[in-house]
Amino acid sequence: MSVLRLAVPTPLRRLFDYLPPEGMAPGDISTLTPGIRFVVPFGRREVVAYLIEVSANSELPTDTLKRAVRQLDSQSLLSPRLLALCHWATRYYHHPPGEVIAACFPKRLRQGKDQSPRGDKAWRLSTRGKGLPPGALGRAPRQAQTLTLMQDHPYMTDAQLRTEGISSSILRGLQERDILERCVVPSPVELATANQALTLNAEQALTVAGIEKTLGEFSCHLLEGVTGSGKTEVYLQLIASVLEQHQQVLMLVPEIGLTPQTIKRFNTRFNARICVFHSGLSDTERYASWEAARDGSAHIIIGTRSAVFTAIKDPGLIIVDEEHDISYKQQDGFRYNARDVAVKRAQIENCPILLGTATPSLESLHNALAGRYQHHQLTQRAGSSQLPTMKVVDIRRQELHAGLSSALMGDMKQTLTAGRQVLLFLNRRGYAPALQCHDCGWIAECEACDSRLTVHRRQGRLRCHHCNALHALPRACPQCRGTGLLTSGLGTEQTDDFLRQEFSSWPVHRVDSDSMSGKEAMQALTNELDKGQPSILLGTQMLTKGHHFPMVSLVAVIDADSMLFSTDFRGEERMAQLLTQVAGRAGRADHPGTVIFQTHYPDHPAVQSMLEGSYARHARQLLTDRKQSGMPPIGQLVMMRTDSRDANTGEKFLRALRAKTERTLPPGTALIGPLPSPMPRRAGKFRNQLILTAPGRQQAQQAAALLVAIAETLRPGGDLRWSIDIDPQEVF
Ligand code: ADP
Ligand code: ZN
Ligand code: ZN
Repeated sequence: MSVLRLAVPTPLRRLFDYLPPEGMAPGDISTLTPGIRFVVPFGRREVVAYLIEVSANSELPTDTLKRAVRQLDSQSLLSPRLLALCHWATRYYHHPPGEVIAACFPKRLRQGKDQSPRGDKAWRLSTRGKGLPPGALGRAPRQAQTLTLMQDHPYMTDAQLRTEGISSSILRGLQERDILERCVVPSPVELATANQALTLNAEQALTVAGIEKTLGEFSCHLLEGVTGSGKTEVYLQLIASVLEQHQQVLMLVPEIGLTPQTIKRFNTRFNARICVFHSGLSDTERYASWEAARDGSAHIIIGTRSAVFTAIKDPGLIIVDEEHDISYKQQDGFRYNARDVAVKRAQIENCPILLGTATPSLESLHNALAGRYQHHQLTQRAGSSQLPTMKVVDIRRQELHAGLSSALMGDMKQTLTAGRQVLLFLNRRGYAPALQCHDCGWIAECEACDSRLTVHRRQGRLRCHHCNALHALPRACPQCRGTGLLTSGLGTEQTDDFLRQEFSSWPVHRVDSDSMSGKEAMQALTNELDKGQPSILLGTQMLTKGHHFPMVSLVAVIDADSMLFSTDFRGEERMAQLLTQVAGRAGRADHPGTVIFQTHYPDHPAVQSMLEGSYARHARQLLTDRKQSGMPPIGQLVMMRTDSRDANTGEKFLRALRAKTERTLPPGTALIGPLPSPMPRRAGKFRNQLILTAPGRQQAQQAAALLVAIAETLRPGGDLRWSIDIDPQEVF
């Protein structure tokens, strides 16, 4: 007897036993390999599940086992190495195995669709077919003709073959003889044109040589290079070496770092097939790209977070650009960190991994300083550009216009008159973050969240930035009927209005998620700016990553204070990263740049260290502080989160969990909470958390396993949902 042990995409952290599909011969069962997809009945539905192993028995009586409906793949579409990565992630993140494996597949395949999407089915030679000499199959003229045709083409679509007069019975015959196989047209995969590499400077050359030496086996590298130091050029030259070895490269980029500029730079460099995974792909395009990465016909795979689970035939190098970026962390469902998964993947695939950034996360910096990662530094800007000069404008007692001091406005006018561009950073969209009644003090708050509503004046709306609730902008106070409604605080829309009046001779471009919808918007803007006309860019952190604005020579942080007093223990690290990245947009071409920070706290240590312009030194100081506090990366955190409509169930659940686990936790660990989350109510749900601190990974893992095991035995009431977050990013 054989039992299929399957990973089913459900919230349950276990495998499920099924009998093989009706009529499956023992001979067929012996060919099954892990990763093969099956359709199985689950509850009242049919779902796609993934084979983990074939077992000779089940812990359940066999007459209670259900039968799988059908087998979808003859061979596993995932390599044993990718499956090993899934098993690691399942254990490390304590996440249900079915959901982890599902993350490796594009939607079409997760839905159990046929491997070839409709509309662009094609045929190609199988491995056996490729081995046949020209003129083989001479005794069957139609088959021989088909073979000759296929030997001249990497693939041919059904439509092309029909026009050649080749019938589907011939094709099926060749498929049965394992000469042809089905494939999809790798449509979104672009064949790029080759372009000259730059001559590396000494630091770049040292880095490239150092990493090249390690190709062919696992090693981990941190590339710490100041903004504009030519990290991308280092990536490009390493990629060229990997392509020469006929291996593939996976490059991860942050969500908003996937800019048209980046893609263009890759496209114009290599004579290689590049596929880019981004949110704008249709399901069919995504599937075709995935298939091209899997079968090895795509050479460079670029994508955001989820691309770390892409099936790739033979990766020779993994690059994580802007490794500090928090968009690598998935904040709901399967809460993995793509950077950390990428390191594990490199280890399993036995290839080097390169983490690049101007502002390393303290985690990666710690690993580099401890000698676990090879550390490469680029301390100078590449080419002729210089690092910008930093200035503080003390705005105490200064008159501000839409956030701008007269000192800043003076510098802006000077820059614009000199024919250069200005970039203003204000990390708050909308017109103002609050609306208040001057008569009675009422403040517009979201009904579903513990947060204030943001005024969006152009749309005439109040909006919640946490649950997206929308309300009309009231004319009178709902509490006292007074009409003295005032906005308080500053958002990009307000500064934008002011700039259009005060700086009317120059174009103003606002860059935030309200003004830049659609893929083309950013492209159009960069094209416009590349013309080099003096103009003002005003935006949120959308502006900070990956973009290259060569004509910007003045960068100003309008409200540096908004970041100074974060309660999260990573607050200072985040601020230093963000400000360094913003500052890094200045003076990227031949003219030196200036960066201005407006603040009420010119003497604050964080402001001072920004002035020195050395993230590197500041980060090392922060790391010393973490050593004292025992927080990550020195110690480890695990967090249990709950949300529920009822105000008390979350706390009750976490309290019970604490009581049941407290005495058996590994030594050195401690629990904090239950506590309400930093935003205790969001989108109508009450949120609580229980934090575990541990001195090291092993203790954290043991404790996490215990917390999950006990949590699964508790029967919380109502609609309570709980989740575990390993290495949480947003904590206090
Ligand atoms: P980073 O990724 O570190 O921000 P980039 O790779 O984008 O830096 O390089 C910044 C600028 O410097 C780009 O315009 C790039 O073409 C240029 N550059 C990089 N390396 C060199 C080099 N070795 N010689 C001349 N220019 C270079
Ligand atoms: Zn009022
Ligand atoms: Zn809300």
